[in-house]
Amino acid sequence: MPTYRAPVDETLFVLNDVLHVARYNNLPGFAEATPDLAAAVLGEAAKLCEDVLTPLNRVGDKEGCKHHADGSVTTPPGFKDAYNKLVAGGWVGASAPVEFGGQGLPMFLTVAIREFMYSSNIAFTMYSSLALGAVATIYDHGSEEQKARYLPKLISGEWSGTMNLTEPHCGTDLGQLRCRATPQADGSYRISGTKIFISAGEHDLTSNIVHLVLARIDGAPAGTKGISLFIVPKILPAADGTLGARNTVSCGSIEQKMGIHGNATCVMNYDGAIGWLVGAPHRGLYAMFTMMNAARLSVGLQGLSLSEVAYQNAVAYAKERLAGRALSGAKFPDKAADPIIVHPDIRRMLMTMRSFNEAARALVLWTALRGDIARRSADPREREAADDHMGLLTPVIKGAFTELGFANTVLAQQIFGGHGYIAEHGMEQFVRDARISMIYEGANGVQALDLVGRKLSKDGGRALRAFFSEVSGYIKEREADDAMSALTKPLGNALSDLQQASLWFAQNALGRPDNAGAGATDYMQMFGLVALAYMWCLIVDAVKAKALGDGGGMRANDKQVLARFFMERMLPATATHLMRIKAGADSTMALPAESF
Ligand SMILES: Cc1cc2nc3c(=O)[nH]c(=O)nc-3n(C[C@H](O)[C@H](O)[C@H](O)COP(=O)(O)OP(=O)(O)OC[C@H]3O[C@@H](n4cnc5c(N)ncnc54)[C@H](O)[C@@H]3O)c2cc1C
Repeated sequence: MPTYRAPVDETLFVLNDVLHVARYNNLPGFAEATPDLAAAVLGEAAKLCEDVLTPLNRVGDKEGCKHHADGSVTTPPGFKDAYNKLVAGGWVGASAPVEFGGQGLPMFLTVAIREFMYSSNIAFTMYSSLALGAVATIYDHGSEEQKARYLPKLISGEWSGTMNLTEPHCGTDLGQLRCRATPQADGSYRISGTKIFISAGEHDLTSNIVHLVLARIDGAPAGTKGISLFIVPKILPAADGTLGARNTVSCGSIEQKMGIHGNATCVMNYDGAIGWLVGAPHRGLYAMFTMMNAARLSVGLQGLSLSEVAYQNAVAYAKERLAGRALSGAKFPDKAADPIIVHPDIRRMLMTMRSFNEAARALVLWTALRGDIARRSADPREREAADDHMGLLTPVIKGAFTELGFANTVLAQQIFGGHGYIAEHGMEQFVRDARISMIYEGANGVQALDLVGRKLSKDGGRALRAFFSEVSGYIKEREADDAMSALTKPLGNALSDLQQASLWFAQNALGRPDNAGAGATDYMQMFGLVALAYMWCLIVDAVKAKALGDGGGMRANDKQVLARFFMERMLPATATHLMRIKAGADSTMALPAESF
């Protein structure tokens, strides 16, 4: 049975010493989130995750969700009790707006908490994550009446939310969407059509489910410009939130799937269901982007979370499992064999995982902090810069974290040898659960295209220039610091690779877009590596500064070794990515489709 300890100290170290979040105490909600409060909140979240959610992870995988003849869905045993605890603790709305019953705490705290929750039980955590996306979307685009009716119940966790984009014939290409919305005399719409793969579409955890549905108003233009967004509640609420009649939306079936068995993936049938327009007609994709961006960051976080929990279990196993002798001579001659942690190949895998996890935590919390600044700062220029950062880094985090996170669950499984392949130790579940994060919320290939095709050139490349200038400015500042050169030199080389790749696209992809498409995934991965390497520099700066104060000890040394490992063993891949990008699309696209 896998175990999990939430990395509370590591998270507090990132927040307080690497990101210095106290600098932003002028932002609403930040002054309340003192280091003591953050420590207390994360400590409580850790207890919930370790004691309640972790033990349910295997149960959820084994038992799965059940679809019944009346269309209802039951979640695995124990999920409802755990959900009630989540609601009772006020965990769902920790960062939600105070005026609708949330606690208004910075989003970085919610992201930190969600890291722990996904590590403990990703399938369970998805139910409430979708509600957070619905909250953000209704808050940003809904009418005052919609906010008053839906937000308090979503924020408390009494109701949950879903996002309904995918249809049987289209997931990525939403321009083909067929779901219809017919206007009614009272201002509402009747929604008809089928949505598939809808996470948490039906379940027994909440008294109501608020579906956010993309549909085409009768007579609307074809393509993405004719899509609108609707609120379609499972049960129609009165203005005071009391529940009325059942709406004509139902779950036709749930999918049998590779992982996340505890989360119901539903076929949803809308049979003239009553819905209300959110935002302007035909601007549905624009409004839904609020939910998709929140979800993309959240899915990127899943990559880190599963890598972290898989790593923790792999370390424990590597210290116990006896096999062979250390190449440098027996380390435990009194035992039948040395523990496998003495072997360089096992160390390679453990270091690969940990050097990703720690830098990834810093990067996702930094990005969440920028998200807070983008929403809460009074300074428009600060808001704009933070928003640019979010836009640029969201596809990077979604794509690079989920690829590396999945690869790390495979490494952890490998450390268990044959015991990783059988179900007993739970390692194969992490592999299965992690795989979906590369596919949903926009498959990773599409994230890469978003990065290369839209984000690089957006606003004349302003976000990209700001990122390059921040990293190169940092390297320049440390030029004379010999002690840091083992980190800043490789970072400089990798940044140069990334800059060359960006320039190559500018020169070679405008006339031939296939060149961008063929290199986009490499670009996304190299961007992720550069951003993670930059995080390692900031982490080492932080431990050095801390060492001056309290002696630092083992942790300072650990971090420096991990940073060096990342620079020596992970970051050089940017050179390969650059070579692939510069090879262009010729060999990739040369064969006609009939040759395959
Ligand atoms: C378990 C699970 C949960 C899900 N939850 C939800 C949910 O809650 N709500 C929801 O709406 N959807 C959900 N989805 C759907 C998911 O988001 C889609 O499956 C995903 O976006 C991909 O769409 P698709 O499956 O139609 O693949 P397609 O769009 O058919 O894509 C197939 C492949 O082609 C690639 N591709 C497509 N277009 C392009 C292009 N222009 N250029 C290059 N490559 C391209 C894709 O990257 C992918 O690799 C879920 C799916 C699963 C499996």
